Formats: sequence, C-alpha cells, structure tokens
Amino acid sequence: MTAERGNQGIGMTSARTRDRLVRRLMEHGIRSQDVLTQIRNVPRHLFVDEALASRAYEDTALPIGHGQTISQPYIVARMTEALLDGFEGEKVLEIGTGCGYQTAVLAPLVKKIYSVERIPELLRKTRQRLRDLGIYNVQFRPGDGWQGWNKYGPYDGIIVAAAAPEIPEKLLEQLAPGGRLIIPIGPPRAQDLVQVTRRDDHYEQVSLGPVSFVPLVKESS
Ligand code: SAH
Repeated sequence: MTAERGNQGIGMTSARTRDRLVRRLMEHGIRSQDVLTQIRNVPRHLFVDEALASRAYEDTALPIGHGQTISQPYIVARMTEALLDGFEGEKVLEIGTGCGYQTAVLAPLVKKIYSVERIPELLRKTRQRLRDLGIYNVQFRPGDGWQGWNKYGPYDGIIVAAAAPEIPEKLLEQLAPGGRLIIPIGPPRAQDLVQVTRRDDHYEQVSLGPVSFVPLVKESS
C-alpha cells in the first residue's frame, strides 16, 4: 500500500493529471518555465493526507490539519514567479512553511531558503517530508513570522503564505536593497497580493490582485 504512494503510474499522480494542472496554470497566465517545471515535478499528493491525495492535482487549496491549508497551485506559482522575476541573489525568507509545498517548489530555484512556521508539529512533519524528497537547502525554525528571522538577514527575497492587516515592519527591515517581498495584505475575504521592492531610499509597492489566505497570526493576540 505505502509503496503505491510514490508510484507515478497510479491515476491520481499520473503525468497526464499533472500536465493538466500545468496547462491550467499556463492558461491563467503563468509564464515562467522554471516555475511550471517545478509544478509538474513536485509530488503534491505527498503533501496532503492520503484521503485527499486524489485531489492533489486540482488547482485548489486543501486542508492540512491544525486549521491550515496547502496553498492553491496557481497562487504558489504566481508568488514564486513574482518573487523570482529579475531575482538576483541567494537567500529567501519564507514565512508560513505549512506542509512545505511552496518551499519544495521554490527550493531548486534559489540557493538557500530560511523558513519560519509557528506550529511546531506541522514543521516536524514538513522537515522529514522535504528530507525524504532530497531537498536540503532549507533551514527551518519554529517561530513568529511577524519577527522575520533576523539572524540570517537581509534577504534577497521574502515570501509570506499568510495574510497580515499591514506589512510587518521587521520584514521590510530584513529585505536587502533590490530585494523583493511578496505578501497577502488585508482582512479575510478582501486580501490583496502585494509585491514590495526595496529601492535605495524607498519601497516600491504594486498589487498583484485579490487572494485568500489564512491569517498571519499575531502571537500576542
Ligand atoms: N506555504 C504553505 C501554506 C501554508 S498556510 C503551502 O505551500 O501550502 C500558512 C501557514 O502560515 C500555516 O502553516 C500557519 O500555521 C502559518 N502561520 C500563520 N501565522 C504565522 C506566524 N505568525 N508565523 C509563522 N507562521 C505562521
């Protein structure tokens, strides 16, 4: 039974099923070949419960326990594409590791990822999962994403998988000059995906459109 899970031959994980997802993302405007290749290659069915594996290549968010979700593939692709467009650098900070799907899509495209997640049980499973997939360029930390991860900053890119009412000050501080931050901002049901680029003396902000994420929890609240 368990050996079947990684098997490319079974219907739900077949090349055809994955190609259908990739085609859908292309139709929705994803252009980066690197990103599309990653969406095809990363075995998303291994990031969700076995009971949901048959839905893993649908373009939809799915529950991963602890009230959290695995992000919709289109959103992961869109955020990764936006982060890497013109990306020069090595280090990316990720906030909201969750099951590690976004991490796995991004990992081969950058030198090093530093990833922060507030739910330790989720992080424990994710660490093991990414190791099993042969992904080693990620350093994890249980902690509060509002604080970023000062120790290894500044970062050339920051990607946040949970929505905040405003851009966390610490993340702006930990962004390197020329670096880019991708973050959903706003209240539930009215969030906007925002891209912030740090220039020499100011931050440039553009909107990438409406999105729906779980909240970036404030530990004090
Ligand atoms: N990146 C995941 C999606 C994770 S959902 C994917 O690829 O599918 C968002 C994650 O953010 C959840 O795991 C949640 O626990 C985490 N999170 C919420 N608030 C946080 C905070 N303040 N600090 C760190 N992680 C947080």
